[in-house]
Amino acid sequence: MDINTRIAEISDRIKQAALAASRSADSITLVAVSKVQPEDRIEDALTAGLRVFGENRVQEAQGRWATRRAIYPDLKLHLIGPLQSNKVEDAMALFDVIETVDRPKLVETLAKLAGAGNKLPKLLVQVNTGEEEQKAGVAPRDLPALLNLCAARGLPIEGLMCIPPENEEPAMHFALLAKLARRHDLGVLSMGMSGDFEAAIKFGATHVRVGSALFGTRVGPA
Ligand SMILES: *Cc1c(COP(=O)(O)O)cnc(C)c1O
Repeated sequence: MDINTRIAEISDRIKQAALAASRSADSITLVAVSKVQPEDRIEDALTAGLRVFGENRVQEAQGRWATRRAIYPDLKLHLIGPLQSNKVEDAMALFDVIETVDRPKLVETLAKLAGAGNKLPKLLVQVNTGEEEQKAGVAPRDLPALLNLCAARGLPIEGLMCIPPENEEPAMHFALLAKLARRHDLGVLSMGMSGDFEAAIKFGATHVRVGSALFGTRVGPA
């Protein structure tokens, strides 16, 4: 299947899921997860008209997107992987959205750099809804304190993001994230990947992050 066919198919499934949930398909943004994909697939996606992309590593994203920015001024780049403190300045320069704010130290660094004049991307907080040891994200019980710190440092948070545990029913995690977002009056919900974006839309996802279903199997480590 070529990428145009895949994009059409995914877009159609998004529309159907939105319809089933009595939502407007326009309220859902497809974030094409381009991490580790070969350059020709990225070019095909751009030619097909995709402009919103997700990457999980700052350095890889710089190599891939820094020069393409000039060619595609309407690009929107989302950081969807963990952000180390020493990469924050580069991430702020490159990304339009950082979806993975998840700890006080990162909030302090973002605030300091914004105060020093660096452009501030839109920010989401990643919530570790499954409370998995090895996974990034703030634990649900620590979310209020982290949001308070963001407010105190003048960092606007637009929404929440989660990656459900691999071997669990994702629906309960989507429901939890949606509940937390409502409680804190946050409008953006980034949830749902290739295998479960329709369920995420049912629970209110505004951004679905789809990689392999769009581009095909990734060639290399996650
Ligand atoms: C890789 C990745 C995705 C996309 O996963 P697919 O199953 O290939 O759609 C989405 N979100 C995050 C955070 C990822 O790291």
